[in-house]
Amino acid sequence: QTVGNDPGRVACAELSSWVNAMWLPAKCAAAGRGVWASRLCVLRRSGSNTAAFMPEAAGFGGVSGRAALQDFSLSDGDSFWAAAARHRLSWSRPFRTVRDCDLSRGRIKWFEDGELNVSVNCLDRHVHTCPERVALIWERDERGSEVRYTYRELLEMTCRVGNLLRRRGVKKGDCVTIYMPTCPLAVASMLACARIGAAHNVVFAGFSAEALAERIRDAQSSTVITVNQGVRGGKVTELKKTVDAAVQSCPTVQQVFVAMRTEKPVTMTARDVAMEEEMLKEDVVCEPAAMSSEDILFLLYTSGSTGKPKGLVHTQAGYLLYAALTHRYVFSYQDGDVFGCVADIGWITGHSYTVYGPLANGATTVLFESTPVYPDPGRYWDMVERLKINQFYGAPTAIRLLLRYGDQWVNKYDRSSLKTLGSVGEPINTEAWEWYHRVVGEGRCPVVDTWWQTETGGICIAPKPSEPDAEIVPGMAMRPFFGIKPVLMDAEGKVLTTNNTSGALCMAQPWPGMARTIHNDHQRFIETYFRPYPGYFFTGDGAYRSKEGYYQITGRLDDVINVSGHRIGTAEIEDVVNQCPAVAESAVIGYSHSIKGEAVYAFVVLKKDVNVPEAELSKELKSIVSEKIAKYASPDLIQFVKRLPKTRSGKIMRRVLRKVVESDLDSLGDLSTLDDPTAVQEIIQGHQELL
Ligand code: ATP
Ligand code: MG
Repeated sequence: QTVGNDPGRVACAELSSWVNAMWLPAKCAAAGRGVWASRLCVLRRSGSNTAAFMPEAAGFGGVSGRAALQDFSLSDGDSFWAAAARHRLSWSRPFRTVRDCDLSRGRIKWFEDGELNVSVNCLDRHVHTCPERVALIWERDERGSEVRYTYRELLEMTCRVGNLLRRRGVKKGDCVTIYMPTCPLAVASMLACARIGAAHNVVFAGFSAEALAERIRDAQSSTVITVNQGVRGGKVTELKKTVDAAVQSCPTVQQVFVAMRTEKPVTMTARDVAMEEEMLKEDVVCEPAAMSSEDILFLLYTSGSTGKPKGLVHTQAGYLLYAALTHRYVFSYQDGDVFGCVADIGWITGHSYTVYGPLANGATTVLFESTPVYPDPGRYWDMVERLKINQFYGAPTAIRLLLRYGDQWVNKYDRSSLKTLGSVGEPINTEAWEWYHRVVGEGRCPVVDTWWQTETGGICIAPKPSEPDAEIVPGMAMRPFFGIKPVLMDAEGKVLTTNNTSGALCMAQPWPGMARTIHNDHQRFIETYFRPYPGYFFTGDGAYRSKEGYYQITGRLDDVINVSGHRIGTAEIEDVVNQCPAVAESAVIGYSHSIKGEAVYAFVVLKKDVNVPEAELSKELKSIVSEKIAKYASPDLIQFVKRLPKTRSGKIMRRVLRKVVESDLDSLGDLSTLDDPTAVQEIIQGHQELL
């Protein structure tokens, strides 16, 4: 079967049921062509600006070059952002005020009196100019069965979902919870919410019923969208059953839309709606709601690395503009590129750089449904070769994992399409950075270590944009993005003005992509981000500013260890430990020590097939840290473990390790985002044996 008219499309014999049932053009063509003219009317009625993208420099009043743009964005932020918003977004009502922000009160508003629709910006304007351009390449879990969707098809799918949601009573301002694997219908569901003015709340489809229920309740959703089963890494998960269990304790839920990812039928209750069946009844034209810039686009819970996840709220225009601009400039994205961000849509990275940023820019974006090691550790690079990916964006945890399997899994595949490699989520240690650069990128692709958070909406610090040929320092996020003004604070809350210094990372100016509040808890928003350093946004992370003025993230401030009065970030010690050839990864924490105040405890995972005795390795690691950092940073205790406790987004949960070492097992805190509870059990046992 061929999907779509595009000759480049992949023929695939065993497409999933919803592809077969719904999206073969043969079934949609009649409806699609028939309404073509009326869709254009809709575009005209909604006042969309259908002009193609402006040339790069024109979007900024003729200013070009990184240094000049950065100056412009900081010295006259209003003009900079106004020019960007006018040229990069299509408005149904132009904005007059650019910003109304007061960081000391946690008040953030951008383009407030303007109106637009995010789905029109991500879909309709591209359908108008290039309907047959591929919008999504769905890299299904089953290798080699990818499916492509054009912008026209994605718009049609989105409109059907939008109409269905509307018909079933979802209104502007409601919040729809989406519990789905990364797939086209999940993207269409997000965009359909945006189209009709509902907010979405995407919950990672690996979370338990309890974690899902907590997020549904907090979001007060009456509608949930899910699939019968998920398929990831060759394993089937019963997502519909998880939803059934979750909604038992969610009195607000009135309806659950169930799509079919596999053929397996599921028990449907009176509350459940067969999604594809109902979508077929819907029109492929759906009137977009005119949304004010500051209406809610989505809420999204953070990864929970440091405690109870926060439901952060992002709004329409500012978020979309920031995601689009960073996507274009940080990754040097050019029209026609295939952008491969492998993050799940359940995380902010999936929101900003799988969905909103690339689609706003009219890119072809990859939806990765699988894992880096399924069916083997060559999966990413096989995909790069097959899909001709130009920008690849992943997480250090996966890079460290793949490095353990050796270079042959990378070298097997042609990676000549790659132009830029990106990293996000945690500090990337030197060894992983170098492997990514040398082996994966063949030494010719810039590696961009991108620092940002769910709170920031998009990338804030990254090596690019930079002037052509500007240096990139391994493991450093380096340069603030346009309009971003990082500052470092000392312990007394004073701004550190010199270079070659470390401090608490704050932002001195608001930017359009930042979160507006914590859902249902504006007070917590103010207390967490704006109270610690009045007048500044506090990130919770520590950073070092080099002699040259480049930034390096040193880890979370909660994780900073104070040994005999020396403050040191965990990332720095881990980076050195990880450079030992036997080590795959490590996590360092501080524990209380009667003489030093705090001492260093390292959890170490070894590479495959390492046979050196642990005592010998311990000695070696201690001496490497003494030599490369200082004697005080050398770990007092080293525990070798099979794996580290991580969040489901792949981040090390150091707070859990601290509790284990403090023998405070009753207060491990919120574990709803913990990936694999057995890792904690193993560590508790190993810790007791070590003592
Ligand atoms: P929670 O806020 O619930 O504890 P979280 O902070 O892990 O969870 P996210 O918003 O997904 O939730 O992650 C943002 C954090 O990830 C940053 O604050 C930072 O600590 C870390 N991070 C992200 N990118 C980088 C990077 N390139 N280098 C270093 N750290 C990074
Ligand atoms: Mg955080």
